[in-house]
Amino acid sequence: MIPSEVAPAGETVRSGATLTVDLAAVVANWKTLAQRAAPARTAAVVKADAYGLGMAPVARALARAGCNTFFVALAEEGRALRAVLDRAEIYVFVGALSDAEAELMVAHRLMPVLNDRGQIERFAAFARTRGARLPCAIHVDTGMNRLGLSLREADALIRDPAPLAGLDVKLVMSHLACGNDADEPLNERQRAAFASVAPKIAPGAALSLANSGGIFLGAGFHFDLVRPGAAIYGLAPINGRPNPMRSVVRLTAPIVQVRDIDTPGTVGYGATHRIGQNAKIAVVSVGYADGYGFSLGNRGHALLGSVRLPVVGRISMDLITLEASDVPAGLLKPGAEIELLGPTLTADDIARTAGTIGYEVLTRLGPRLRRRYVGGETAS
Ligand SMILES: *Cc1c(COP(=O)(O)O)cnc(C)c1O
Repeated sequence: MIPSEVAPAGETVRSGATLTVDLAAVVANWKTLAQRAAPARTAAVVKADAYGLGMAPVARALARAGCNTFFVALAEEGRALRAVLDRAEIYVFVGALSDAEAELMVAHRLMPVLNDRGQIERFAAFARTRGARLPCAIHVDTGMNRLGLSLREADALIRDPAPLAGLDVKLVMSHLACGNDADEPLNERQRAAFASVAPKIAPGAALSLANSGGIFLGAGFHFDLVRPGAAIYGLAPINGRPNPMRSVVRLTAPIVQVRDIDTPGTVGYGATHRIGQNAKIAVVSVGYADGYGFSLGNRGHALLGSVRLPVVGRISMDLITLEASDVPAGLLKPGAEIELLGPTLTADDIARTAGTIGYEVLTRLGPRLRRRYVGGETAS
């Protein structure tokens, strides 16, 4: 039973937030990137459940649009993706960390990205036990100092390629530390280092350097294959520049109660926001358990139609409170849909307010959200 002050007679309010993912926009973004990168090929990075949006529907839509190379972070993600796409090439960034993961690579036709000398030696030894040349990628670190062979280790491998016997190196890659920052001189240093070292590691292998941002740094960054993630999902590829990508996600939630404040006081946990008489508060069914970040308390805002409503008080686990004193009474009622994230209030905007990055805003969108996919196979 829904209490009457929550749902006026005759109206049904369904609580909880809904994430709407526009698969047509996902495909349009991938095609925009592919055009920009051509003649280089364009892969898709679908790690972390396609940045929180749902790996299976996203990967299916992209495969149908012509994408046939995918990257995930973990072997388990690769296994899940293989269950969805029977024919695609799938690379696993973290590589094969054990014989069990190497088995997984073979069983599901995944290709590990080998990130250090130890990984190369172990995967080559595993290949010998199988009596097969196993496909893989080699990662060279050109300035990120995270994963990948150091330039010295890469040089050693070029002088003595014996450790690669038994491996079928399909791809040599590196990763930009500042690909989203067009003015950062490290980009050109990484490009030059990659161009001089990568082709000698495994002659004939495809070369790949660019993430989303790298695609916009110029053709010199494209090599044979580009690896966008963020821009496919609508995030801005280059910080501080107009975003050429289409909006992909919308997060909405209903008002579950409208409070007319008759006594001045405070709102929410910790009593962090003072409120006067005659104010109105809209209570909305979304919270940090859905991925609506705690740091948006007293800082974020949301939209009721085109009216901006500031978040007041702390974010609760399941609820937020919006200052709605100026909203015309007819609009403000239980069941009215509040937009928390969408084309005019983007993940990048929210990230700036919350002190994080759009990537985190997307990947935090929680498992409790109701998910709706539009613009997919039935529509096209
Ligand atoms: C996540 C990732 C990408 C994709 O980066 P975006 O900035 O999301 O385009 C590409 N390459 C590697 C190695 C990654 O880890």
